[in-house]
Amino acid sequence: MSRQRFDAISESQKRKPIHIDEKGRRSELFATNVFNEERRLQYLTKDALESVQNAIFSGSKINRKIADQVAEAMKAWAISMGATHYTHWFQPLTGTTAEKHDAFFDLLPDGRALEKFGGGQLVQQEPDASSFPSGGIRNTFEARGYTAWDPTSPAFVYGTTLCIPTIFVSYTGEALDNKTPLLRALSAMDEAATAVAKYFDKNVVKVNATLGWEQEFFLLDKSLAQSRIDISLTGRTLIGRPAAKGQQLGDHYFGVIPSRALRFMKDLEQECLKLGIPVKTRHNEVAPNQFELAPVFEEANLSVDHNQLLMDVMNKMADKHNFKVLFHEKPFAGINGSGKHNNWSLVTDTGVNLLSPGSTPMKNLQFLTFFINTIKAADTYEELLGASIASASNDHRLGENEAPPTIFSIFIGSQLGHVLDELEGVSKGKLSPEEKTELKLNVVGKIPEILLDNTDRNRTSPFAFTGNKFEMRGVGTQTNCAKPMTVLNTIVAKQLRDFKKEVDTLIDKKNLKKDEAVFNVLREYIKTSKRIRFDGDGYGDEWQKEAKRRKLSNNKNTPSALQIMTSTESLALFKDMAVLSEAEVKARQEIEFEAYVRHLQIEGRVFDELVYSQVIPAAIQYQNKLIKNVLGLKDIYGVAHKNLSDGQSGIIEQIAEHIVSLKKSTDAMTDARRKANKINDTQKKAFAYCDNVKPFFEDIRKHCDTLEQLIDDRLWPLTKYRELLFIK
Ligand code: ADP
Ligand code: MG
Repeated sequence: MSRQRFDAISESQKRKPIHIDEKGRRSELFATNVFNEERRLQYLTKDALESVQNAIFSGSKINRKIADQVAEAMKAWAISMGATHYTHWFQPLTGTTAEKHDAFFDLLPDGRALEKFGGGQLVQQEPDASSFPSGGIRNTFEARGYTAWDPTSPAFVYGTTLCIPTIFVSYTGEALDNKTPLLRALSAMDEAATAVAKYFDKNVVKVNATLGWEQEFFLLDKSLAQSRIDISLTGRTLIGRPAAKGQQLGDHYFGVIPSRALRFMKDLEQECLKLGIPVKTRHNEVAPNQFELAPVFEEANLSVDHNQLLMDVMNKMADKHNFKVLFHEKPFAGINGSGKHNNWSLVTDTGVNLLSPGSTPMKNLQFLTFFINTIKAADTYEELLGASIASASNDHRLGENEAPPTIFSIFIGSQLGHVLDELEGVSKGKLSPEEKTELKLNVVGKIPEILLDNTDRNRTSPFAFTGNKFEMRGVGTQTNCAKPMTVLNTIVAKQLRDFKKEVDTLIDKKNLKKDEAVFNVLREYIKTSKRIRFDGDGYGDEWQKEAKRRKLSNNKNTPSALQIMTSTESLALFKDMAVLSEAEVKARQEIEFEAYVRHLQIEGRVFDELVYSQVIPAAIQYQNKLIKNVLGLKDIYGVAHKNLSDGQSGIIEQIAEHIVSLKKSTDAMTDARRKANKINDTQKKAFAYCDNVKPFFEDIRKHCDTLEQLIDDRLWPLTKYRELLFIK
């Protein structure tokens, strides 16, 4: 009998919610560990303060003398907060965060010790970068990579370390991380959106993209999670029979949060607040043991950093509370997986949400401009948006009738759809005074009222307009939001830039008034971007067919989805918008293919181990018990035993059949892996894993899960779903 499962169960049953110190009011706790504006005011000289504020607002450079002052101030503050070390905190293309800690410590020539941290250390570091993925950008003789301070995301003290958010670039300046292209995309967006916003308000100087993510996750007891190698090594259960009771009763969703989980959440929220992560809502999700945490939205770069930091804090906090957090998109078969909706909008420095209708017709025309340009951008680059969220683990979730399909479409609701239909009828060229009045009063002017009761939110749409923002719903739980945010902001920026050119041409060449020109261009966009709009059931088969007719892409796996990254159009887009060079895009694609292969390779190996060291031995053990029983019956009853041992014999045979099939599939899978591993071209290798290795997983699982049902519970070595999924 396998002890591990039963030891883990008894361990988990002894757990009690652990004590936490409840620390004062949330507003008092907020950002106490962040070197934010309040601290800067307190610690920086006037020159330094101004220089940092300018860098944040307009991206201007900070000179070395000022950097020294900032470093000195940060150090003084951090030490007062109990920090002993500092680190450049960055987001390499592994998808997670990285840090290398150095002590605030140096020796003077005379042997005296002092705490040192200068502008040099603040601004730039040279971590040993050779083990981070570069997609071939870094030659080994130039293995150096640099991290460079990002002043737009404030430094913070985490534990006893001052963390300085940084970008990570190669010696030759290419981006090696997720932050660099995001910052470039946000800067392109600022430029393009500000130019367009000026049509409506001359005072706008800057436009920021905003992001509010909704982080879903599963919480498992630590011992139970550790008792299974598949959860430990792949973050999901590769095999396992769904529990008799799953989510069908719907009693977990928005139900009372179990006490151990609640204690964890409270502790987590306090830590998040101190770090300046503005967490706001928490609730149970659909599946048992599934939860969601969402913050107040923030400027996109900061929000991305906060999401990455959150996942890290969650892992550490879970450990403290004897939990393991699963960020995998599909940890369990038969119940919902997890996602991370990305809510996105644009806001001006004057505080106006550009995707929110306003109180005047002009404000509403501004809204329509940004709204329709977003639709148009999504229509042109739908496939690229799909690529930005593709990953081996997210493949399990997309299109599984619990998450949006792999087809990218936009939901805007029938009322706004009706507005666009009306605008499609706007006259070409100059508009008559009557038409203008009609538009003002009965179309554009009606939008705010319409949106007030626009409650029909379609949960099956991958990109839904939800009143004052768009919500990207296919993003994976573990995905760094920088990836979809880079693409979304790049394509909308490009679209807005094109829009501005077209409107200006109509004003200059055709002598149209500004609003006439805007209406004329929008009318054409509405006509040419219709195929991306879909308000129906995104989960249905009918949509699959309809989408095909509309020639929308529908890439059902990651290797196929990634192809578009290096198309002529994509390369031109990233280059034109100065977001990624051709070499950078190719490197990124290569890294994605590599990650896909590695992911499936590990799963394949874990399958080998599960099947040969756990499932088959358990099956044989039980089979032997049955055989002994049948032989015993034969001893006692002679020929008459047949009637008595029919049931047992049947199970013996069933077990034998499953073992044969299981062995066959597992060996064939291993063989397919061996063949795939010989392929040098990473892209071809990814397809080989996808087409030749992965299909065996399902068959292997099927046999394992049937054996789980057949075999004596006490002999089954793997912690079962019902044990994993119902914490108190
Ligand atoms: P749900 O999608 O669950 O119905 P809400 O519509 O209330 O929830 O919003 C969810 C998320 O949307 C939150 O994380 C919030 O921060 C974010 N959000 C709200 N307004 C904006 C905005 N203007 N820009 C970006 N995110 C936003
Ligand atoms: Mg949502």
